[in-house]
Amino acid sequence: MKLGEIYKSKNAPIFSFEVFPPKGEELEHKMENLFLELAKMNKQKPALISVTYGAGGSNRNTSLKIVKELKNHLKQPVMPHFTCVCSSREYIEKYIKEIEELNITNILALRGDEPKDIEVCYRDFKSALELVEYLCRHSELDFAVAAYPEKHPKAKSLEDDIEVLRKKQDFGAKCAYTQVFFDNDRYYNFAELCRKKGVTIPLIPGIMPVISFKQLERIIELSGTKIERRVFEYFEKYKDSKEDTIKAGIEFASKQSQELLKFGALGLHFYTLNKAQSSCEVIENIT
Ligand code: FAD
Repeated sequence: MKLGEIYKSKNAPIFSFEVFPPKGEELEHKMENLFLELAKMNKQKPALISVTYGAGGSNRNTSLKIVKELKNHLKQPVMPHFTCVCSSREYIEKYIKEIEELNITNILALRGDEPKDIEVCYRDFKSALELVEYLCRHSELDFAVAAYPEKHPKAKSLEDDIEVLRKKQDFGAKCAYTQVFFDNDRYYNFAELCRKKGVTIPLIPGIMPVISFKQLERIIELSGTKIERRVFEYFEKYKDSKEDTIKAGIEFASKQSQELLKFGALGLHFYTLNKAQSSCEVIENIT
């Protein structure tokens, strides 16, 4: 099903999951583990599973391998992410064609952050806006885009960010998935501002059930997500017990999810960190 239809269907709330390609040593073993986790996620019948893509195509092959596993073996609707930063126009055109030839109908169109270690950095597409303009004119894919309830770290203001989002909508973006956040007030404020500025596409909140305190600290650092003292302290209490952290993560994310759906979010996008259990339990708790 194409993105446009998914979020128009009457099956709300609509759940989706995100996974990322593993890297480092014992890659094959890590991939096998991920495929087992994907099979568990599949049991929740998510509307989509999205697969991240390294900026500059750094993990192109593993990302595609996961996309193919989901599509061909697990028969699961899949949405590859695609980043245009540091890629040539020719490469981008070829990759989009490859995705279409796999009979995939949806893509998450992103700019990506410039990798520090890349030698040749093309500037053919400088922002996600240029990528979505390309998709709008040259592809049949439905595409989603990223949104930032706490503002993109490089944007001058939340209003500027929303203006870019509105332009992406004008090029045909069917929905936006948000950066992870832990304070729902930020989403409420963002959603209201979006509506005022003419952004009408579904804004799907990104939910991350915390499974490790260390990982939480790393994600906050990487994504620029702000975390309130009370949330930080809530998880800090459990930092020495993995089991208790997972339990607390499920409890926190369930409450957060319930409130977001009550506010009117059409669906939830779970940052699974490649583990099925927590996100699946959250869905069970709220349905
Ligand atoms: P853009 O739309 O081009 O930029 C986003 C916003 O940032 C713009 O609205 C603009 O206001 C502002 N902005 C950006 N750069 C500047 C600048 N230099 N000056 C002023 N304003 C600026 N990254 C990956 O590498 N792989 C992934 O698979 C991936 N998946 C993601 C999934 C989601 C749901 C989200 C929210 C993010 C994801 N990212 C991923 C991270 C994303 O690539 C970065 O946040 C990137 O910096 C911006 O990408 P974008 O598509 O939002 O870009």
